[in-house]
Amino acid sequence: MRLSRYFLPVLKENPAEAQIVSHRLMLRAGMIRQAQAGIYSWLPLGFKVLRKLENIVHEEQIRAGHIPMLMPTLQSADLWRKSGRYDAYGPEMLRITDRHDREMLFGPTNEEMITDIVANYVTSYKALPLTLYHVQWKFRDEVRPRFGVMRGREFLMKDGYNFDLTKEDALHAYNRHLVSYLRTYERMGLQAIPMRADSGPIGGDYTHEFLVLADTGESEVFYDSAITDLSFGDRKIDYDDHAQCQAVLEEFTSRYARTDETHDEAVFNEIPEERRRVARGIEVGQIFYFGTEYSEKLGAMVQGEDGQRVPLHMGSHGIGVSRLIGAIIEASHDDKGIIWPEGVTPFHCGIVNLKQGDDEADAACDKLYAALTALGLEPLYDDRSERAGGKFATMDLIGLPWRITVGPRGLKNGVVELTSRKTGESVELSPEEAVRKVAEIYAPHHPHLAREEPMAGRSFHTWL
Ligand code: ATP
Ligand code: MG
Repeated sequence: MRLSRYFLPVLKENPAEAQIVSHRLMLRAGMIRQAQAGIYSWLPLGFKVLRKLENIVHEEQIRAGHIPMLMPTLQSADLWRKSGRYDAYGPEMLRITDRHDREMLFGPTNEEMITDIVANYVTSYKALPLTLYHVQWKFRDEVRPRFGVMRGREFLMKDGYNFDLTKEDALHAYNRHLVSYLRTYERMGLQAIPMRADSGPIGGDYTHEFLVLADTGESEVFYDSAITDLSFGDRKIDYDDHAQCQAVLEEFTSRYARTDETHDEAVFNEIPEERRRVARGIEVGQIFYFGTEYSEKLGAMVQGEDGQRVPLHMGSHGIGVSRLIGAIIEASHDDKGIIWPEGVTPFHCGIVNLKQGDDEADAACDKLYAALTALGLEPLYDDRSERAGGKFATMDLIGLPWRITVGPRGLKNGVVELTSRKTGESVELSPEEAVRKVAEIYAPHHPHLAREEPMAGRSFHTWL
């Protein structure tokens, strides 16, 4: 993309309404525009990051064997009456009446709708195990929408639902989700710690929340600092292997890590003092196993091997896709702007032309642009007739991890400059070497292109 033809409305001044850095930077970098309290338009740069996160979510869900679909945002009140949640949900639910006076609602979540679908089509245990998910806009009329996309009223969520014959199978689905979430967040450049949480109105005994540590987080958390040494890395997981998933879950949940709802001071105090941490965190996901309650209420029953009809064991599993953008920025920025992790950056590399209009500099930039594009990378070329300082400030603000700077002086010596946004370090390289280096850096972030793992018959092309 050439910046002169893009739509990137950056702001010079700090917007007064933004209280936290991620909100401020998203507004300044021209990523979002508030339409109403807690409701945002996603401007091109913000939309690009949102799509990147969504892609990672899809790839990791499909890798775990979960099946993408799409349910509507508007749901019928009657469906929610069957589960008893239409009245229980309270003022957070946006209720709407259509021209025929039919009561509807803008879905805050989809347990009822998915269970109704499964109840209508799945009749035999042979169709199990089954996990269906979608990435869809939700609406919750939050009392205090704030912090930009972090606590919106309309927000994008991945929500998935597992249907299993037995509790044991459903707990495998729970473990599998935990493992796939660890991998998902790591690909986004985040450390999200699974913490024992309170199951709240949805009920059930098993639930973990995933929290990104940040001073601006809304949750108070308590943990053993040893947990922050763990990383998922590039381990290969067979998601159908119960024991393997269980082992990963145990590894990542054996240390003390809890939200304030489940915090137990006595147990916490058994951790050596130097490892005890009280901090704040941003909830970026949550997984639940809740048994057969919804299946019973909505009639999701199957015939088991013995011919008996039994209700399905269910769980639901959410990732806050739009909130994640705020969480990533909270975790990765400096005083000049955003620093995107390579896995989620809206463009892979910036190209800054120091002397727009200079034949040689223009030609070198065009060539770099073409070479990067040919490799499947997306450069953002600042081809405006602006001062170098202004171009650098924009690149720093929008946070692309790598920048190639091209100027007549370097070109005389056959070099351009490759600069890391994170460290600020620059190296002089020939244009060809700079392209090769950038391609090398991004290779691990395109696993669907490299396709290094057998997918057990599962194709990313279902989404991509
Ligand atoms: P919270 O406690 O923050 O209100 P929740 O526990 O009600 O969230 P879930 O029902 O678990 O949310 O939804 C799954 C995920 O959706 C959450 O982990 C969070 O990342 C995201 N999410 C929930 N509410 C919002 C919101 N108002 N704005 C943006 N993201 C949200
Ligand atoms: Mg939650």
